[in-house]
Amino acid sequence: MHRNSVISIDMGGTKVLGCVVNSKEGIIARVKKTTDRTASKKEYVNQLAAVVNELIEEVNFDKKKIKAVCLGVPGTVNPTTGVIGIAPNLGLKNFNIKKMLEAEIPFPVLIENDVNLGALGIKNFGVGKKATNLLAVFVGTGIGGGFIIDGKLYRGSSFGAGEIGHMLVEKNGPKCGCGNKGCFEAVASRTAIVNKIIKDIESGEKSKIAKLIKKGDRIKSKSLASAVKSGDKVVQRRIKEGCEVIGGVLASITNLLNLDMIVLGGGMIEALDNYMLPLIKKSFSEHVMNDSAKGLKIVASKLGDDSAIFGGIALAEEFLGVRV
Ligand SMILES: [Zn+2]
Repeated sequence: MHRNSVISIDMGGTKVLGCVVNSKEGIIARVKKTTDRTASKKEYVNQLAAVVNELIEEVNFDKKKIKAVCLGVPGTVNPTTGVIGIAPNLGLKNFNIKKMLEAEIPFPVLIENDVNLGALGIKNFGVGKKATNLLAVFVGTGIGGGFIIDGKLYRGSSFGAGEIGHMLVEKNGPKCGCGNKGCFEAVASRTAIVNKIIKDIESGEKSKIAKLIKKGDRIKSKSLASAVKSGDKVVQRRIKEGCEVIGGVLASITNLLNLDMIVLGGGMIEALDNYMLPLIKKSFSEHVMNDSAKGLKIVASKLGDDSAIFGGIALAEEFLGVRV
């Protein structure tokens, strides 16, 4: 007999990860599927419904035990209405996904920004259990942030809080996906760091990843990690610069909010935490005011992609008052 559970779905740009999860047993089933980005809204929702159905079949689950389907959306959301404001990587805009998906499956649908869900997962089921004021930062393609303030997810006045990736860090700096220039993520995300390395290589510097770039491969965090390990000076220098910026921004946020924990996650941290964390901490301590950082811990998340999956449990408890 299974316990009450939720189905959490992390909606990536090209793939969705769906899991059956509860607070006692953790993740009990997992399905990863490629989604078609050119699909219509209806077709996309049908693909999500198929993931839900596949998960239930896989674990032979009593449907009554599934209390909610929680969607982690890479974009702006209104969790009370179930409307996605804009999710650029999914090509979705002003879309009541809750309504359309609830018409296809017999469960309540809840939605939340994927980074906020990650913060909820870390706070309730990860390294942040004891923290009261926590910032979760995910460094990868972009840089996302989710705040737990006084033990609760801080969503802001219109659910837009936590967009630390778009804090201005370099006036007239590199162009950001949001349209502005010099945003934090346009300077220090993996994408930004790789762009700088490409320019270095084009201007004649030697790097191990030149071969990959020539082949037209996407440079993943793992490739950067192996370049760092092999002593690649260009890659090391650019990552170090990125860490200096990250540490400085985290110090500014700590000066503002007097946090007690910062948890770092995302592809780049997962691949390079041993290299990046000391550099980030060094820059952090150079920029933070001592009183604001008293007792503050900077740690790596150990949940990986699963943080947002676990966050679904907390979301269901918050919105539906169920224990799962
Ligand atoms: Zn931006």
